[in-house]
Amino acid sequence: MVEASSLKILVAEDDVISTKLLKRTLEKHGYAYDLVENGISAWEAMQTGQYSVLISDWMMPGMEGPELCRKIRESEIPFCYIIILTAKTSSADKMAAIHAGADDFLSKPFSEPDLVARLMAGSRLVRMQQQLERANEELSAQREELARANDVLTRQQEELSITLKRLEDASRIADISRNRFSQLFEGLPLPCFTVGADGLVYEWNEEAATRFGVPPHLAIGRTVQDLLGTRLVDEERLQSVQAALSGMAFVSEDWNDGEQYFLASGYPLHSHGGEVTGAILSLVDVTAQRLAEAKLEEQLRTIHDLYEKLQVANKRLESIASLDGLTGIPNHRTFQERLAGLIEVYRQTQEPFCLALMDVDHFKRFNDDFGHLAGDEVLKSVAATLNGAVRGSDVVARYGGEEFAVLFRGAELETASRLCERLRQAVEALPPTYRQITISIGVAQFDETVNEAEELIRRADTALYAAKRGGRNRVCTWEPSLDTEAAA
Ligand SMILES: [Mg+2]
Repeated sequence: MVEASSLKILVAEDDVISTKLLKRTLEKHGYAYDLVENGISAWEAMQTGQYSVLISDWMMPGMEGPELCRKIRESEIPFCYIIILTAKTSSADKMAAIHAGADDFLSKPFSEPDLVARLMAGSRLVRMQQQLERANEELSAQREELARANDVLTRQQEELSITLKRLEDASRIADISRNRFSQLFEGLPLPCFTVGADGLVYEWNEEAATRFGVPPHLAIGRTVQDLLGTRLVDEERLQSVQAALSGMAFVSEDWNDGEQYFLASGYPLHSHGGEVTGAILSLVDVTAQRLAEAKLEEQLRTIHDLYEKLQVANKRLESIASLDGLTGIPNHRTFQERLAGLIEVYRQTQEPFCLALMDVDHFKRFNDDFGHLAGDEVLKSVAATLNGAVRGSDVVARYGGEEFAVLFRGAELETASRLCERLRQAVEALPPTYRQITISIGVAQFDETVNEAEELIRRADTALYAAKRGGRNRVCTWEPSLDTEAAA
């Protein structure tokens, strides 16, 4: 038996006897029910939606059964099983009731089993209808879920196709750059190769093949040392390669085996993720330059040697030209140059200087008595003495014959005169080898009234003449009166 308790029945009947019979039957079989006595009340009750079965009389006050059926079927009221109860028995009436929306038809007077059978059928139908509705609800929920899933799927598909497009683009760009890389790599006019993280050569360009005489198919898969030799790639250079493989580039390192010279550079190669996957190495052959440099260096050394020899020769020549051959002190020409130099300095800075001319007393007689070699000895001895007694800034020169000249730089006449006296004493103090040697000295200062070298020399010479005339072995300074005396 279908669970009667889960169904709620509305009975719409105005006939008392029929009502009594219905009540008895329903109660007997445990059906829950409500009772109304006219069509209007039935319509109102049905709108509550709580009844799943309606047993309605055909003829009722307010609204007849078929009319009630139609209204219910046209309304939003959930499905209910409608049994029309009537004394009408014609097929046309039954059809009319079915058309109006009734599900079944029960003739009055009805038997209890007929009603129960119809109620059971109705219950089944209601239940099925309810299940159908639930299934429908679930289905529509699933449909909604499906629609949502579909939306998500559509979006994912769109995203996927965008991603795919990007991937295609990226792949195309990667192909282009790979092509460019290999064109560039192959076209490089210098030996180039790549090394993988395993230390093996992966690419080996034509220039490398030509330079090292190993074609690419024999080079790939071998180590750098194996290909270039351990003399060219010693442990230190191998460490540079290892450094490039751990991300540190090296540039223009000197790689050579004593015969071949290269400038080697290595740069790490990175994956898209930034990981170092290998290194690219290039070797610039500089053997010809190195050999040329070595040759040039040798030539430069030869030139330098020659230059140094020339310098020594020049120095000797220069000293030969500027020094007096006998005494080794500056000669007359050098004296003239120094004098011209001091005049130039005077004209620019008014720095005073004096000239002393000196003569070995009675030198002719000395030569006559002891010979020229002895005379030469005397001259050398006097020159050395004068040179040893002057200040560092003074210049002693052989003026000619037994005459010497001294230039006193930065000295006024008085100072020069005192210095001359020192010279005279130094010569006088020489130990007499043959006989006592003395000198006479004449000093003159260069000033505005002198103006040129000849005049200074003339004045010093005049003073020297005065010193001789005054008895020799003395210093005489120039003064204007000496000119008058000389003229007299
Ligand atoms: Mg009636």
